[in-house]
Amino acid sequence: MSISTFYRWVDQHKRRIQTLATPLILTFMIAVYFIVINTGGIKYVFSHSMYLPIVFSAVLFGALGGFTTAIIGGLILGPFVPIDTLTGEAQLTINWVFRMGFFVLIGTTVGLASDGIRSYIKHLRWSVRHDNASYLPNRFALEADIKALSTGEPKKEEKYPYCLTLISLANSKEIETSFGMTALDHILMQMSSRIKKETQAETVVYRTSSDQLCLLLKESKELEIKNFCKRLRKYFQEPFRFNALQLHGDIQIGVVKFDRILQSPSYYIQKASAAALQAEIANAPNILELNHGSDSAIVENIELLGRLKEALDSKQLKLHYQPKIDLNTGAIKHAEALMRWHHPTLGAIPPTKFIPRAERSTLINRLTEFAIDEALRQVVRWKKVGFSLKVAVNISAQNLTQPSFVYQVMTLLNKHGLDGSSLELELTENSLMHNVNNAIEVLTKLTKLGIVVSIDDFGTGYSSLQYLQKLPVSIIKIDKSFILNLATDDGSRYIVDAAVNLAHKIDMKVVAEGVEDQQSLNILKEIGCDYAQGFFISHPLPASDFAKWRTQLGGVYHSPSAD
Ligand code: C2E
Ligand code: CA
Ligand code: CA
Repeated sequence: MSISTFYRWVDQHKRRIQTLATPLILTFMIAVYFIVINTGGIKYVFSHSMYLPIVFSAVLFGALGGFTTAIIGGLILGPFVPIDTLTGEAQLTINWVFRMGFFVLIGTTVGLASDGIRSYIKHLRWSVRHDNASYLPNRFALEADIKALSTGEPKKEEKYPYCLTLISLANSKEIETSFGMTALDHILMQMSSRIKKETQAETVVYRTSSDQLCLLLKESKELEIKNFCKRLRKYFQEPFRFNALQLHGDIQIGVVKFDRILQSPSYYIQKASAAALQAEIANAPNILELNHGSDSAIVENIELLGRLKEALDSKQLKLHYQPKIDLNTGAIKHAEALMRWHHPTLGAIPPTKFIPRAERSTLINRLTEFAIDEALRQVVRWKKVGFSLKVAVNISAQNLTQPSFVYQVMTLLNKHGLDGSSLELELTENSLMHNVNNAIEVLTKLTKLGIVVSIDDFGTGYSSLQYLQKLPVSIIKIDKSFILNLATDDGSRYIVDAAVNLAHKIDMKVVAEGVEDQQSLNILKEIGCDYAQGFFISHPLPASDFAKWRTQLGGVYHSPSAD
């Protein structure tokens, strides 16, 4: 038996050991007394037997136990025990006090050592089950707790009594690379305390990896889980604090429901993780009932990246073009290239489904290269028939961290015999915040090539215009969420108005995306916005349809009210 198993055994049977060991130790001590008396008195060596119950007690009960037993032992062999029973000669006080002093020294020292070993073993056991940075129970603890769940058939009314919820921080890589691992620790601790504050305090929150938390709940009703997920998302809407910064956490929630344990615990964690991954694609919490059908759905999603690779090679990807019209002149001189994937059996797969997945792998670099290459090829084709158009391509944060990105763009421009003025790159403000210094460096090089950089989805992040002014960016695209209800919501109108005025003051142009009706278009003109893009003007179109649409209009867009 190792020391660790011995102490575990002692702690597990503490009560029983205490009730049995206490009388045993006392009996032992009294036995020593009689041995000493019957062997002739304290001058013989048998009094040393008293060390045995003292050490025994110190090992079992620690310093206090060792000390108390030492005092009792010292008194038992104290003033009433003669040096020699035959002569009845009493002990000198110094004699028994000195002995008791030794008993106390040994009892307390052994007891302290025992306490030390015990607490060290406890700490080791604790650290096996906990994350050292956040002090939350870890994956090992979760696996042990899942293992302890019932393996038996559930009752009829409890179809899925168990529910494992996995909450993952999708933008953890960005946070880690910009602010370090400590920032992740801080965010996860804040996430955990928000969950604990809002749910029952006894809810155990596990940290299963650097950017993942798990909750193991007993739950059976679908609606309750859905509401729970909704509440969870609400707890994480507020930014997280790290030093003086406020950081946004991109939260994905995956849930697995199961009725009993038939697989290894890691199987259930893996399924919850896959559910969270699907949630990321669908942008909503994902609840998975463990059965064969949903398993294959996950596999399908995991396969998506593989299929995307194939799509790149087999020309299933195309670009559609959506015009951005000049609101002052109606000129159609700009278009945004938007990727379309038509899979031979799955049909049209929207970019919102495959781009975020590609962004989590290096495949995004190939997708961006394809988009720029294809868009420039189209610019050349149109140029040949007399259309001069600047095309905007969406790029991702990862592209900026790719060391050869600027070189790649330059090579593509050369390949098509174009200069940078034919190309615009759209980047979301959040993607610029990953690594601001690197972004400034890369974007400066790109603008030196004559390329225009614009900030996409402006208003959805946390950056201000004053801040963006520091970046080599000359256009902002106000997010469609502000434009879609421009005609009905005064708040949106004030925001757009303020953004346009401020942008103009710092020499930036403004594009409004998501123009779906005439009224919004009119308001944008009134406000003085520079460009407009949206379904009202034109949906994104295949290149040939775009050219037809433009020709029909004679290259200038006249909205009905402008006529
Ligand atoms: P985005 O860059 O914000 O693109 C604008 C999206 O708004 C497009 O969706 C477009 O079809 C849609 N849209 C345009 N006008 C309107 C309107 O009036 N009303 C509404 N409700 N929507 C409008 P799409 O094509 O589905 O693209 C979605 C997102 O996928 C894009 O958002 C962009 O972030 C990403 N994406 C698309 N193509 C590419 C690409 O080649 N590379 C990268 N990295 N991302 C891309
Ligand atoms: Ca865009
Ligand atoms: Ca946008």
